[in-house]
Amino acid sequence: MRTLSRSFIAAACAVLLALVPVGQARATTPPPPRTLQTPGIDAHLGYLPQKTCSPAAKPGTTALLKALIATWGGSSSGISRFCTSGGTSEHKEGRALDWHMDSRKAKDRATVADVVRWITANNGEVAYRLGVMYIIWNQKIWSIYYQELGWRKLADRGSWTANHKDHVHISLSWDGAMAQTSWWTGGVLRVPQLGPCGTKNFANCLPTMGRSSSRSWPKVTVPAFSPFPSVVPAIGGSARVGLTLKAVAGTWMPAGSTLGYQWLRDGTAIAGAAGTEYLVDVADLGHAITVRVNASLGGTSVTKISDETTDTVAGVFSDLKPLVSGDYLFGATLTGKAGSYPPGTALAYQWQRDGTNIPGATATSYTTTAADVGHDVRFRVRAAKAGYTPDYAYSSAKEVAARPFTVAPRPTISGILRVGGVLTVVPGAWDPVATLSYRWYRDGTRVDGRTGSTYPLTSADLGHGISVRVRATRAGHLATLRYSTRSKAVGAGIASASAQLSDPTPRVGQRLVATTGTWKPSGVALSYQWYRDGAPIDGATHGAYLVGAGDQDTRLRVRITGSLDGYPSVTRQRTATADVAK
Ligand SMILES: [Zn+2]
Repeated sequence: MRTLSRSFIAAACAVLLALVPVGQARATTPPPPRTLQTPGIDAHLGYLPQKTCSPAAKPGTTALLKALIATWGGSSSGISRFCTSGGTSEHKEGRALDWHMDSRKAKDRATVADVVRWITANNGEVAYRLGVMYIIWNQKIWSIYYQELGWRKLADRGSWTANHKDHVHISLSWDGAMAQTSWWTGGVLRVPQLGPCGTKNFANCLPTMGRSSSRSWPKVTVPAFSPFPSVVPAIGGSARVGLTLKAVAGTWMPAGSTLGYQWLRDGTAIAGAAGTEYLVDVADLGHAITVRVNASLGGTSVTKISDETTDTVAGVFSDLKPLVSGDYLFGATLTGKAGSYPPGTALAYQWQRDGTNIPGATATSYTTTAADVGHDVRFRVRAAKAGYTPDYAYSSAKEVAARPFTVAPRPTISGILRVGGVLTVVPGAWDPVATLSYRWYRDGTRVDGRTGSTYPLTSADLGHGISVRVRATRAGHLATLRYSTRSKAVGAGIASASAQLSDPTPRVGQRLVATTGTWKPSGVALSYQWYRDGAPIDGATHGAYLVGAGDQDTRLRVRITGSLDGYPSVTRQRTATADVAK
């Protein structure tokens, strides 16, 4: 608040003395109300021009005009003006008066000077109390909202009357026009009512006061202007923990007020919350927020508090999808990254397989296992923070693929490709080491029951090509099939003839002979091995065997093997003899 300094008052008095000749000074002014609330001054919204049309003279306008005439004489050239007349004019709302004074007459000029002095003295105290917006006289204007500019010359409007050389025009605020200001009520109007009181949508009219007999009133501290919101402050946003509320200052008159802010929790100032924005805190849960706007101008300040928000509710995390980097491939490491949460949010991680927690997989990284192959894996983030509703966020679920073998060689087949021979698969070196299974094919057709690593060639294979398929498996790896090339046609093997012993009932001292018949092809070399009760007899490797004393009561047998280069050997065994007799 600014108070008038002694030097300012002295200067103002000097001006008065200069303007008013000694002896002609008149202290006569309209009397103040019987009770006048001081100190204090009415809030004023500055220039609020005519917007509606209700030309009937308003009580404050009429009363001011009567007071002017009663105190200083003269006559009125009217208050109301037809709605159909052109231009913006407070006359159309019954808020302006025209008081007939003639600028050519020195007496009238002195009278107006008295009135102006009365209204504008002490930084426009009476203008505040009356709700005067502006005064036009003699082609000049004074306004409460540009007091610092004093009287300003107006552009030439043409006529004597249009230039206000034959009358004084005074426009009032709605509250002045409705006699709601302190001049009429005795109480300082701190909250403008902004319209015709007593009518729909406006407050009831305050009672007006009688005049006192005094012609003076105590001087009060008068701001250069009383800033006041014509649109009250409000709060933008929702009262939810973690959201930012914005103060909407409203529209303050006049422009140029310095605005300050203070956020309140249930009416109590929140420490450090003095900006235009406020981040709703956990401490606000269940409490309502308001913002207090303080407007300062010319050493005075006015505060206005917004309506309350609803009670603050728990914060919600915004929908933040975690991201996962890495290949969804067996044995690969996936790395999850949570979205951006408010500072202080506690995050917990969990990897899931088909929506079910994977035990122990609670770090940001996870190396997929064989159990994941063929299943959907996702990264879950649980966010928790005081004042917030805990929330889960999930990455996109993706299927983990099996890993291919690094080395998957094509199998080959070894062995003699003749009936009687045994083929063996050579699977090669798989990397990583695989579990292998086999399937044999004859001319491309599966041979039932042949699933070993070897394949004995039978007469059924004669003339046909043989191939083998390797199926490799390993945990987490793609089951992989590899086929050998088909062999050339299987050739004929060694054909054996039936063999006989020269005597099935031998006795000690007898010479036993194995007869072999004819083996094919020609050139097959035959070798022999004699057995006694199933055990090979040392050195008994010829076609004939001399039965010895040691053979008595045993059974003898011979095995004949035919061999030929490039052929599988063929072995024939003869049924054992009867027990060797003495
Ligand atoms: Zn007028």
